[in-house]
Amino acid sequence: MLLSGKNAVVFGVANKRSLAWAISKAFADQGAKLLLTYQGDRLKENVLELAGTLPGTLTFPCDVTDDAQLAAAFDHAKQNWGGCDIVAHCVAYANREDLSGDFVKTSRDGYRVAQEVSSYSLTAMCRAALPLLEARGGGSVITLTYMGSERVVPNYNVMGVAKAALEASVRYLAVDLGPKNIRVNAISAGPVKTLSAAGISGFSSLLEVYEQKVPLRRNIEAAEVGDTAVFLASPLSRGITGEVIHVDSGYHVLGV
Ligand code: NAP
Repeated sequence: MLLSGKNAVVFGVANKRSLAWAISKAFADQGAKLLLTYQGDRLKENVLELAGTLPGTLTFPCDVTDDAQLAAAFDHAKQNWGGCDIVAHCVAYANREDLSGDFVKTSRDGYRVAQEVSSYSLTAMCRAALPLLEARGGGSVITLTYMGSERVVPNYNVMGVAKAALEASVRYLAVDLGPKNIRVNAISAGPVKTLSAAGISGFSSLLEVYEQKVPLRRNIEAAEVGDTAVFLASPLSRGITGEVIHVDSGYHVLGV
């Protein structure tokens, strides 16, 4: 049990296909206690039902664009646990019209929304989590990114730019929080069919291209992201911070 005695707050479970859910199950399998947050009433029923399958799991509403809601979510964790050891940031959003066609057409507001939800929220989350992580003598913060931050992926557009900012934030946060024994890392996942992914134009053909080209000749499974998150949350990765680990069947090493 790599995470026995650890408390984890996970943001971004929408349904059973969510990468956040794969991470939650993997954490629970390794003995962690969980608090799952959900954005609002629309997802409440789904998340409560999923949480019910992992005994002892707490739930709490939280829109990550609202500092007061972030504070309330971590206050809920504090009241129940006193502190927390692991934070998993698995949220992203961009307006649908900004996830197809030409990037140059991205509106000022669309750019702001993508950055605020998908990138800035990690920094705000770390700030809100800090006292709880310090109360436990340190911890591990994990976020999810995609290779569209490093190279151009058609239609990923404004989200690629937000993910680039997210990965830069991982490095700056790792430096700020390292002296407090808090590690901050990202998992760059290959494509997985989830609710958010379905909003990216041409996503299904991306899955086909990966299958033909990647070194492992198969798409990844959400559970593989969960297992890597366990590694990053556990003492096995105690020497790693500020890192972006690719879980993409090796796609990122290809030149053509
Ligand atoms: P998902 O199941 O749709 O999860 C995205 C989550 O973000 C949803 O729960 C969504 O809630 C939440 N969210 C959006 N805006 C929010 C806000 N303001 N406050 C709180 N929560 C908010 O899709 P996913 O693919 O698992 O995405 C999880 C993470 O993995 C994202 O960062 C994504 O970019 C990343 N990722 C995904 C892939 C992939 O191929 N699927 C690959 C690499 C990285 P609502 O449904 O209410 O908006």
